[in-house]
Amino acid sequence: MAEIEVANLISVAEAIAVLDGTPVWPRVVRVALADAQGLCLAEDIVADRDYPPFDKSQMDGFALRLVDAGKELRVVGEIAAGQWPERAVGAGEAVAIMTGAPMPEGADSVAPVEVVKREGDRIWVEEGGARDRYISRVGSDIRAGEMVLGKGVRMEAAQIAAAASVGAAEVFVHGRPRVAVMATGDEIVDVNVTPKLGQIRNSNLPMMVALLRKMGCEVTSLGTIGDEPGKIRAAILEGLKFDALFVSGGMSMGEYDYVPGIFRELGVELKITKLKIKPGKPFVFGSVGKSVVFGLPGNPVSAFVCTVRLAARVLARLSGGAVADRWQCARLSVAVKAHGSREFYQPVRLEWSGSADAIPMVLPVNYRGSSDIFTIANSDGLLVRPADDSALTAGSLVRVLAI
Ligand code: AMP
Ligand code: MG
Repeated sequence: MAEIEVANLISVAEAIAVLDGTPVWPRVVRVALADAQGLCLAEDIVADRDYPPFDKSQMDGFALRLVDAGKELRVVGEIAAGQWPERAVGAGEAVAIMTGAPMPEGADSVAPVEVVKREGDRIWVEEGGARDRYISRVGSDIRAGEMVLGKGVRMEAAQIAAAASVGAAEVFVHGRPRVAVMATGDEIVDVNVTPKLGQIRNSNLPMMVALLRKMGCEVTSLGTIGDEPGKIRAAILEGLKFDALFVSGGMSMGEYDYVPGIFRELGVELKITKLKIKPGKPFVFGSVGKSVVFGLPGNPVSAFVCTVRLAARVLARLSGGAVADRWQCARLSVAVKAHGSREFYQPVRLEWSGSADAIPMVLPVNYRGSSDIFTIANSDGLLVRPADDSALTAGSLVRVLAI
């Protein structure tokens, strides 16, 4: 079969439209709040009551009536956080109050200890107060029934704290996508095997496991399969039981590149086969039933770029969240040449100068091609060069995908 002309390949933007338009079915599970970390909410969480639930003092000090400010006042009691006021504050009276304690009836201002002189049960406020000063009124943070966290929000520390505040001891979240990964290639050996002549070590499989775990997936490795159609077919059949399957290698036009054909035989609708991206042209994407499949080029940098730039979008939705690319605006430290017809992801390092504009400098690293995983391993990001981008001068503003 002849190589497809670049002009006939789809663009990255077209590929993204296909990826984003493919339906996915995130699972829903109910978990204890503490186990929700990193997962996306499958329900809205609303306030079960007003917050704060009572008028609350923001300071350690004295609750009093503003009309009495400036007079000598008599301290008639004390309210600690966690207690409930036993009596109201009357004319000429004050109640010692602690931060977080409920305000007593009658009082409409708090004088902090710092501005109060005390002798026994007598106090003098040295500074004029103001109505509601140092009081959080009931419901001033959020009202009962108002939304605290919306569906799709990822639960991290602050979100877990907010859910805990409103009594959400268990929450409905989307379960981690169950993802299978496998590598193909007769020449590939495991990291703890000494390669024979012509063999190379498998870097894609551990890389995919790590990338996918970082994206919140539950990853199962189906191992490395030689370039034998029967064995590849059996492994893919197993992989199609998962929410998503990643296969590395054998996606191109070579004599032993069986994977896309086997996908088709097994009923996978291939929606993307090759696109105008560098590295990563032989990227394959399809779906069958409720599963999605990704065919990654065998070259490690291609596999890496296709996973973080393309597959990540589908996995974000499969996790029940929104697609959010981690673009960083940055400034080129050197001029870069015009470049070709495929959208190019150039590995770069980012350097923050500490200057006020806080825009990092981009230092392109020597890109030696799609097999050079060592360069990626020492990079912070991928500088995106649109298809047919013209030359750029040093100082140009560019976009970098943080990795
Ligand atoms: P392929 O996509 O199968 O044509 O492979 C393209 C290149 O990537 C070849 O040089 C392969 O040896 C290499 N390659 C394929 N799979 C892996 C892997 N799992 N780890 C590292 N390199 C690989
Ligand atoms: Mg191969």
